[in-house]
Amino acid sequence: MEREQAFTRLTNRVAVHQSAYWHTNSGLVRTAEGYILVDPGILKAELDAIAAFSAGVGVRAGLVTHAHWDHMLWSARFGREVARFASEGAVTQIQAERYRFLQEMAEFERVNGLGESQWDHPLLFQEQPLSSGSHFIGGLEVQVVPLPGHSAGQCGFYFAGEGVLFCGDTLSDEEVPTLSAGPQDLTPYQQSLDFLAGLAAGARWIVPGHGQLANPAEALRRLDSDHAYLEKLSKLGPADLEGDLNALGARILEELAEKRADSEAGWLMHLENLALLKRVLIGRAGG
Ligand SMILES: [Zn+2]
Repeated sequence: MEREQAFTRLTNRVAVHQSAYWHTNSGLVRTAEGYILVDPGILKAELDAIAAFSAGVGVRAGLVTHAHWDHMLWSARFGREVARFASEGAVTQIQAERYRFLQEMAEFERVNGLGESQWDHPLLFQEQPLSSGSHFIGGLEVQVVPLPGHSAGQCGFYFAGEGVLFCGDTLSDEEVPTLSAGPQDLTPYQQSLDFLAGLAAGARWIVPGHGQLANPAEALRRLDSDHAYLEKLSKLGPADLEGDLNALGARILEELAEKRADSEAGWLMHLENLALLKRVLIGRAGG
């Protein structure tokens, strides 16, 4: 594994760019017809660096793991007409929630004092649906695997020939698992982890949406932590969620010896999980 600034080369064909924001990982997978970009992001300068990395070879396609704005960005420098794909569920969600994504992106620019607009908005939301299973893009095989839980339409991309698995927002060493709709996400998320266990064990590298890259042993350690955290959330009932969520949140982390919510951003994600469960289970704004 060789690092070139924000890029890490995993195999002859696969490199990963890591953003300054939330350590968001973007994949660059070289095919005979150009690069496949997985979740390219986040800042304009970072998209420019990815474009410079792929220059000469060109971009063949874009792949999006799930419908959250930080995973579905694009730059004119990758090509305006280049086909981009996400699962059918993710495409439906992207179209339904595009206005909310634009609001979140504007808020990100404002909060971080970025000044100039970071993205070409007319290039967004152009993903086409890609079915689960095996596909060949630029002659290279990619397996599209559904990974619901964090987001309903989330999928992973496994490049079996390279042994590289992009697993969306699971298996992070820097973030606890997060839910999107409520307790109904827990079982699909746990089933996604069970499926990932087999896939990750046979891969060379596992690339989470955020955080550091993992070998199989490390990925399986994270998988156990993800399972333990979700198991804990699944045991919470209305009585647990009635009281102070901060105190409950701290107790859960202590009981699990869970360190991924120690950062400010990580803690807020953990609290949002609890607030979401509270809203759904007792129908009241949490916090
Ligand atoms: Zn996400």
